[in-house]
Amino acid sequence: MIKVERPKRTVTIKQDIRDGILSYCKMNHPNEGILILRGKAKKGLIFVDGLVIPPFSYSGPTFAGFPHSFLPFDPSYVGTVHSHPTGQAKPSVTDLHNFFGFVSVIVQAPYEDGDIFAYDRDGNPLEIAISPDKS
Ligand SMILES: [Zn+2]
Repeated sequence: MIKVERPKRTVTIKQDIRDGILSYCKMNHPNEGILILRGKAKKGLIFVDGLVIPPFSYSGPTFAGFPHSFLPFDPSYVGTVHSHPTGQAKPSVTDLHNFFGFVSVIVQAPYEDGDIFAYDRDGNPLEIAISPDKS
C-alpha cells in the first residue's frame, strides 16, 4: 500500500518583505490594505521576495480588492496579501471568491509578527516561514 501524503506546503517570506507588509497594513488601518505578492512558486513551495501595489485598488473597513482584469499577466505574481482590521485573519467567502495566484496572506490587527497567516485556494492554512534577508 502506498500511503498518499499531502505535500507539505510552505510560504517563505523574506523578513524585509514581512516587515513591509506589516507597516503597509498599519498605514491603511482602519481600512483594509491589499498588495500583490511577487516571487516564485514551485511544487507547493512559495517564495515571496517582492510586493506590488495593485493598480486601481480600492478598500474600506471590511473590503479590499482590485479589478483582476487590469492586471498584466506576470508569472512572478504568486498571490495577494490583505489586512483584516477587525476580526480574525480567516479568509472570508469573498476572499476565496477573489483568490488570485497560489496563496492568500491575511494579516489581522494589530499587525505584529504573529498576526500573519497564509491560505491556499480552498482556505486551508499554509505554513509561513520567515527568511532572514541575505541575498
Ligand atoms: Zn479578507
